[in-house]
This record gives sequence, C-alpha cells and structure tokens, in this order.
Amino acid sequence: MSEKNVVKKNYLGWYFNTPLVWRVLTALVLGGIVGKVVGPSIVILEPFGTLMLKLLRLVVLPLIFFAIIVGVGGTPASKLGRIAGKILTYYILTTVFAAAAGLGLGHIFKPGIGANLSSVGSAAIEASSIPSIGEILLNMVPNNAVAPFVNGDYLQVLVFGILIGIAISVLQDSKNEKTVEVVNTFLRFCEGGSEIMYKITQGILEYTPIGIFALISSLFATQGFNVIGSLGTLIIACYVGYVFQIIFVYGGLLSLFKMNFKKFLINMRGVMMMAFATRSSNSTLPVSISTCEEKLGIPRTVSGFTLPLGAQVNMDGEAYYQILAVMFVANATGVVLSPSQQLLMILAVTLGSIGTAGIAGSGPVVLLGVMSMVGLPADAGTAAAAAFALILGIDVILDMGRTTANVTGDLVGTCIVAKTENMMNYKAWDNYKNS
Ligand code: ASP
Repeated sequence: MSEKNVVKKNYLGWYFNTPLVWRVLTALVLGGIVGKVVGPSIVILEPFGTLMLKLLRLVVLPLIFFAIIVGVGGTPASKLGRIAGKILTYYILTTVFAAAAGLGLGHIFKPGIGANLSSVGSAAIEASSIPSIGEILLNMVPNNAVAPFVNGDYLQVLVFGILIGIAISVLQDSKNEKTVEVVNTFLRFCEGGSEIMYKITQGILEYTPIGIFALISSLFATQGFNVIGSLGTLIIACYVGYVFQIIFVYGGLLSLFKMNFKKFLINMRGVMMMAFATRSSNSTLPVSISTCEEKLGIPRTVSGFTLPLGAQVNMDGEAYYQILAVMFVANATGVVLSPSQQLLMILAVTLGSIGTAGIAGSGPVVLLGVMSMVGLPADAGTAAAAAFALILGIDVILDMGRTTANVTGDLVGTCIVAKTENMMNYKAWDNYKNS
C-alpha cells in the first residue's frame, strides 16, 4: 500500500471506524443544533441530503424487485401461502388495533379543542377520495411490465416481483429437468442482482450521516420549533400513540413469541433512526433488509418478501396520525363525530394506511380522503380546510414519528414470521453487544 493511501485511510479513519449508528445519531443531534444556530443560510447544504435520498431511491426499486423474486422464488411452494397468510394477518390486525387505540387517545387528549376554527375560512385544498377496496386491488396491477419501474410505483413492482417469484417456486417442482435448470439459472441471476444492490446500499450507508446532517439542519433552520404552536396536543397525542405501539404492542408481541425486545431495539435502532430522519419507509427499506440479515439472523428469503410488502401496506404509525388528525379537525371546527362515524373512521383509516405510499409526506394526501369519508371534506373556504392547513404545517414532525412506527411494525412482523417458520438464527441477536 502506498504512503498516500495510508495517510488517506488515517485521515478518514475516525469517520469509518465509528459505528454507523453513532454517526447517524450524532448527525441527527448536531444537525438540529447547527440548523437552529446558523439559521436559513444552512439550507445551502440541503443538496447533500437530497443526494442521499436520490441514491436510496435509485437502488430501492431494483432492490425490491430482486429481493422479492429471491424471497418468493426461493421459498418452496408449500410454505409460500403460509408465510403470506401470516404476514398479511399480522399487518391488518396491527393496523386495525392502531386505529382503534388512536381513537381512544383522541378521546383522552381531545386534540383541536380550543383551536376554535369554526368561523375561519381557507383557500381551496384539493381533496383526494379514499380508494375503495376494488380500486386499491386494481391499482396494484400494472398496465404493462415497464410502467411500474418508469413511474416508480413500488406496489406494482412488488406485485410483478411476487408473480415472477410464485411462478419460479411452482416451476421448481416441475418434472422436466430442463425447466428446473433454466428457472434456477434465472433465480441465481436475481440473487446476483440482489447482492449487487446490497453492495451499493452498503456504500450509500456510509454516506448517510452526511445526508442526514444536511436534511435535519435545513429542516430546523427553516421550520424551527415555531411550527409547534397550537398543535402541541396533536403532536403529543400522536407521539404517545407511536411510542405505545412500539413499546407495548410490538414489545408485547415479541415477548409473546419469545424474542427479546431490548435486543431488538438495540439492533434495530439504526434502522429506526433512518426512518425518523428520511421520513420514508421506502428509503429505509434497503437498510432494513440488510440490518435484519446481519443483526437479527433473518434470511432475505423472508425479509425480501415481508419488508417490501410491509413498506407498502403496513402503516401503524400512519393509522394513529390519521385518526388523531381527523379528531383534531372535528374538535377544532366544532363537529361532534357520532359513534358510527367513529367506527367508519377505523375502516377508512385502515384502508387509507394501505393506500398511503411509503414516501415522505404522503400521509396528508390520504388524510384528505379520510376526512371526506367521515363527512369533513376540506372544501374551499371551510373551517375543515383551515384545520387541515394547520396540520400540514407540522406534518414533518408528525411524519418522523409515524414513519418510525410504520417501519418498526414491519420489522416486528418479519421477526414473528421468521421465528415461527424456524427461519431465524436467534443467536445473531447477540450481535447487539458489538454494535
Ligand atoms: N412517510 C410515511 C412512510 O414512509 C408515509 C406517510 O407520509 O405517512 O411510512
């Protein structure tokens, strides 16, 4: 090795030798402080954060595609249905529970009481309608094989990958040796593709502390703490919900299936910080899949299927946010929600969270649909539109927590499936001592 290289290694050694999780945490805290102290001029650094997000988005589609093919195609056909059944049951039950618990929290915290917007008007906000179950299912199927990649439609990429995976899994049982051979060649090609995407991901991970610092400092410089204002109760209620879901629901479920919640949290804290900072389940996906393998002993054949699916359809943090936000709008505008409207809200929020894209800030778009469905449309000039605009102002704060809860829920479901299918190396959990 040349002298020049040695110097370079030593020069950046402090960076690369510090565990990633500490670098990310430092970036989060320092970013907040520097943003507040330096003020809006720090926004000049924002492109470094944008670069991180662009890199993650670059790898995530091929990563999902290859991972899901390897995950589904590598699982024997006899096991596939069971794994799919387990994870979907978990995803739906935890989301319905989150929506119901959010409703309970709404009655305790009463967000929006005192805001008194009933006489306020606001500019038009375009409402999106909550898709019906039929629409959700139809939208999952792409019009052609290339469109989902071009449009960046994660759910459609997922569906296409699942179909290919199922076909591979079934064809592997074929009596025709030639068929089995060519199918296995394709599967190996996809395994190679997935390895390459993971390698790129690992490189991007080394850059994430810089990207996170840039994002958080710009955020604090432009939004600061001023945005909190009258929406304090809503923020507190949402965060109580997120924390409750993570500690009691996920912690309880892990214990029920004989897994150590503390070790889980310590091993997964890097993933949770990533979700918090990027506010995107999809952007966090590459990190979740590789961390699951390294620190929880879960093979990609399981996580490659359950995590991309969860990032699209399982959003428990989202359920808390939506239900509490609708209650904020109702309280702030003096509307009393009837018991049947409240039940309808649980259904609307469950569908809405399935229909929410795993990207930063997509929650409020779906919230408009939920509001229309329970009879609080954000029409031009209405108090509901004004209340919605207020919530929009603090969405970044709410999104950080809800994305963390969303992602944690996917990880816990993945652990439960892997453990009950005997596909987890539980000893790997002890890695936490070294992380
Ligand atoms: N940012 C959230 C996620 O990626 C979605 C949302 O905006 O609610 O999970």
